[in-house]
Amino acid sequence: MYLRQFLPSFRCGSARAALVTPPLTAAHLAFRLQASIGSFVRASDQNLGHLETQAAQQAQALLRQATATAAQQKADATPPRCPVCGPPLSRGSAGHARTFETRFGAITVQRARGYCKRCAKWRCPADTALGLAESAGYSPAVQELAALLATKMPVAEASLVLARLTGIKLPRTTLDREARRQGERAQALRRQLDAQATAAPKPERTQLELSLAPYPMILQLDAWNLRERDDWGATAALRRQGQEPARWHWVYTGTVFRLDHCARTAGGRPVISERGFVATRQGLDGRREQLHAEALRRGLGPAAGALIIADGAVWIWRLADDRWPQARQRLDYHHAVQPLAAVGRAVFGEDPAQFRAWLKPRARQLKNESAVKVIRQLEELQPRLPVGARAGEVVRREVNDFHEHQARMDYRTGRRRGEPLGSGPVEATCRQTQCRFNPNSDFGKRVAMREGLMA
Ligand SMILES: [Zn+2]
Repeated sequence: MYLRQFLPSFRCGSARAALVTPPLTAAHLAFRLQASIGSFVRASDQNLGHLETQAAQQAQALLRQATATAAQQKADATPPRCPVCGPPLSRGSAGHARTFETRFGAITVQRARGYCKRCAKWRCPADTALGLAESAGYSPAVQELAALLATKMPVAEASLVLARLTGIKLPRTTLDREARRQGERAQALRRQLDAQATAAPKPERTQLELSLAPYPMILQLDAWNLRERDDWGATAALRRQGQEPARWHWVYTGTVFRLDHCARTAGGRPVISERGFVATRQGLDGRREQLHAEALRRGLGPAAGALIIADGAVWIWRLADDRWPQARQRLDYHHAVQPLAAVGRAVFGEDPAQFRAWLKPRARQLKNESAVKVIRQLEELQPRLPVGARAGEVVRREVNDFHEHQARMDYRTGRRRGEPLGSGPVEATCRQTQCRFNPNSDFGKRVAMREGLMA
């Protein structure tokens, strides 16, 4: 009874599969794989890696053939309508070949072409159906691989890794162009999502989240320098006009997450289960709006307040006052200890033991008690230093700095509420991207120095 019910669909399924993967070839592949296994077992100089490579190569041909058949059928089934504006195309003709690289090798598809009167353009609807963007000679899966690798390593390296892992050969110039195109797509997508996030009706959003326990939203901001050439080919012309082409650019970075998404692993390592990122070269305004939209997407609207954590840079706090005036502000704890350390070094000079003996209790006091107590001690230090001494100058400067950030140094309350005291997450984000773009930067060294100081 059941069998009879399932029989027709079963038959239909196998018939479709037969069209995609011709059984003869599949049987042939199975036969060849069996032969490979036989010789692998007998060969004393082959480990499993040999078989893995060989099997993947043998299967590749079959997968390529299946992909080609599927792509052709999809192209044939695509209605001759304009993929941009919809109406039927005129002056249609078939048999326009397009060859492109897929995950399993190059394939060629014959497509129909027609003219859209409204767009005043020739269109191949099959290209849109298959996901082949107009300028790319690569399938969607290859486009994704290229974009992913290019975000992780320089394109020359990405080209070699891609060839080694998949057999797909993408020259570095092509990979570069592809990564750029994907970057532009990602930017356009972000703009679209940001517009949606900031335009979403507020009541609906609040209603959706009302049932949740209140959580504060944490925003962290930082910036770093990227060395990148703009104005290709225009260097000489710019210099003739007396302009030195800019090579270093600020990348404004930010991260946003909910406090109730912070936890610890079994080993005690802090983790954040969900967080959003922004890293942009589109200036302070670009970052401010992108981070705000990202924060809205992640639940800033119904959040029980927001907390901004960053280092001492003036522009960050100005931006915070301007964009998120209701948010609480916190100076990254490490950046608060730095001026303390500067004072300690100025006063105790070369004596590391005395320096540490002075710094440690004050750093602890800053974290567990209050900034006011620490500032008072620094102020008491001042008159005891000889007039005109450099140490006196340092102490005065750092005391001013402390006063400036005093309201951002309530670490005791932060600890009581289980909030982060430092901007580690955004710094880690900066470090990751910085290592990708400026592999020889001294950023890593600076981080190591700072961590050494804190140890
Ligand atoms: Zn059209």
